[in-house]
Amino acid sequence: MNQPVSAVSGIGPRYVEILESMGIHTVMDLLTHFPFRYENHEIQPLAEAEHNERVTVQGTVHSVPELRMFKGKKSRLTVRLLADGLLVKAVFFNQPYMKKQISLNDKLIVSGTFDKHRLQISGAIVKAEEKIKRGGLEPVYSVKGDLKQNKMRQFIEAAVADFVEGVPELLPDSLLERYQLLARNRAFYYLHFPKDESFFLQARRRMAYEELLLFQLKMQWFRQTERKAESGQQKSWSKEAFDSFLLSLPFKLTDAQERVLTEILTDLGGAERMNRLLQGDVGSGKTVIAAAALYANYLSGFQGALMVPTEILAEQHSESLASLFNGMGMTIAHISGSSKTKEKREALERLATGEVDLVTGTHALIQEGVSFHKLGLVITDEQHRFGVEQRRTLRNKGLRPDVLFMTATPIPRTLAISAFGDMDVSTIDQLPAGRKPIETHWGKRNMLPRVMQFIDREIEKGHQAYVIAPLIEESEVLEVQNAIDLHKSFEEALPHRSVGLMHGRLHHEEKDAVMQAFQKNDVQILVSTTVVEVGVNVPNATVMVIYDADRFGLAQLHQLRGRVGRGSDQSHCILLADPKTDVGKERMSIMTETTDGFELSRRDLEMRGPGEFFGVRQSGMPKFKVADLVEDYRILETARKDARTIIETGVLFSHESYREIRAALERDPAFREERVD
Ligand code: ADP
Ligand code: MG
Repeated sequence: MNQPVSAVSGIGPRYVEILESMGIHTVMDLLTHFPFRYENHEIQPLAEAEHNERVTVQGTVHSVPELRMFKGKKSRLTVRLLADGLLVKAVFFNQPYMKKQISLNDKLIVSGTFDKHRLQISGAIVKAEEKIKRGGLEPVYSVKGDLKQNKMRQFIEAAVADFVEGVPELLPDSLLERYQLLARNRAFYYLHFPKDESFFLQARRRMAYEELLLFQLKMQWFRQTERKAESGQQKSWSKEAFDSFLLSLPFKLTDAQERVLTEILTDLGGAERMNRLLQGDVGSGKTVIAAAALYANYLSGFQGALMVPTEILAEQHSESLASLFNGMGMTIAHISGSSKTKEKREALERLATGEVDLVTGTHALIQEGVSFHKLGLVITDEQHRFGVEQRRTLRNKGLRPDVLFMTATPIPRTLAISAFGDMDVSTIDQLPAGRKPIETHWGKRNMLPRVMQFIDREIEKGHQAYVIAPLIEESEVLEVQNAIDLHKSFEEALPHRSVGLMHGRLHHEEKDAVMQAFQKNDVQILVSTTVVEVGVNVPNATVMVIYDADRFGLAQLHQLRGRVGRGSDQSHCILLADPKTDVGKERMSIMTETTDGFELSRRDLEMRGPGEFFGVRQSGMPKFKVADLVEDYRILETARKDARTIIETGVLFSHESYREIRAALERDPAFREERVD
């Protein structure tokens, strides 16, 4: 299995080189070079085919083939086929020689991509009858350079014939039986050569489980080791003092808030270091939970830090914390990129001596040369890109505080587990009482005048509005609305209202002034770029207008929409967009269909896949050969539970039936280099 690929019959030095360049070195590598799709040679009735599906159909040639030659060697051959009572166009690219081989009334079997709207099969190729008879699914592999599809198939066929029986089983019988899984060598075989779809699905399920189980074992084993190595700071605080903080709040916590707070406080008081993700939809009330945790931390004699992605949010958090902690004796410092050098230096000094109890700022906080006296708790808000990297920074500084991540982009639980390492997850799944779902409408851009009238009426009722544009100023290349022009139009159309302008290029003091004016209702309409996207809290605002909304992703639109609906009055979100792409249109309709952040992020994931969903391909996102974190979330959940049992009971280390798994884990380079977080 670990022999070089040259051990497979038919693979000479020339191909060895190409295979190596594809990362295929051993026979095992070749055996696990699974197809990325299959071609179906069964003839299907066209009526049942979906748009853009690959189809194979049988038909009669109904028109003389028409050939068009283009520049270079490009050509297009079109022929009309009568198939299943439909007249479809089959389009062959760059196969000019086919013209002579096709004549009127021939019977043809053709396969290609079906455009249901134009009744066209493009990228057509003619299939030989005998292949159809054999039936089944034909594997399609990724290939490179001179190593073409047919050669690759031939190599893999040879490797499978000679070696697949010897592929060792990894999983113990107990698990194979529990889930009725195919043996590993059978799964390999059927992934390459499935007799039909059901064989493929069985094989895939087996391999996905194996991959996800190994992944979870790796993560949890690592976590256990890490936990042993670094015991946390066991905190204790006066319950009385803490309760007086809760009593000072202007509202009662929701049941969901109570629950997550208990989970967090248990972590703080426990011997293990907290590593927890707190997720809750926009407006579910995460800030006060953060404050409560910070307060317990303070009462235990530790310093706390709250980090957020933007300066505006940092500013706002520092203010709302200051008012929540008013009279509680805490010293709070705010460090921002725009703080004056002298002020900053002073704040840093006071942090180092322990004079400051709580610091707020952007995540630059931990990257710069900040030192703490006795850091006990770090909370980050609204950053689902925060994680692996930042925890490592903390660790490298020798800091071992409790860590809480808060996010309002609800991440499907299982994906959170993988992207953030194996964290504990708390979820606020309830909004404070009295909130009305935001009404969302989608209109064309030319509806702006009507929208202005609507805003005017809302202001008449004492409310406020946000108007968002994608750009700051006019762009020569993009035909997209900009904040500066939009601000002008609003001032002209509604001269009796005060209209503010906010964007990233304003000076720090200007931003502050605008934000404060909006907070105090001195400004009724805030025209802004997405700098107000996360966290900003002005409960009196009831209208959110998003211009060129198709430019934004679903998560971002949901965040923006979450700026309203924060009080007890009915709020409205108006999306103005003339989307040019299907994706844009789909986003608009999803937004009008649901206000549930979990549902939205599920659909977002479906549309974009996990890599893009997280913005960057982070180092923490594992790559799988078969498993798919979105599609296989149920399997992941099962694998996670199983991994936990296997580690906690110790069978992984003691039991003979786990020897192969143990060996596989130890071979994993990520594991050896301690790169798992
Ligand atoms: P998010 O989870 O989006 O960060 P916030 O913490 O900003 O939400 O809270 C949104 C609004 O709800 C704030 O105005 C906050 O004061 C208010 N709020 C939070 N918890 C409650 C509660 N239990 N009852 C009523 N209002 C609450
Ligand atoms: Mg928030």
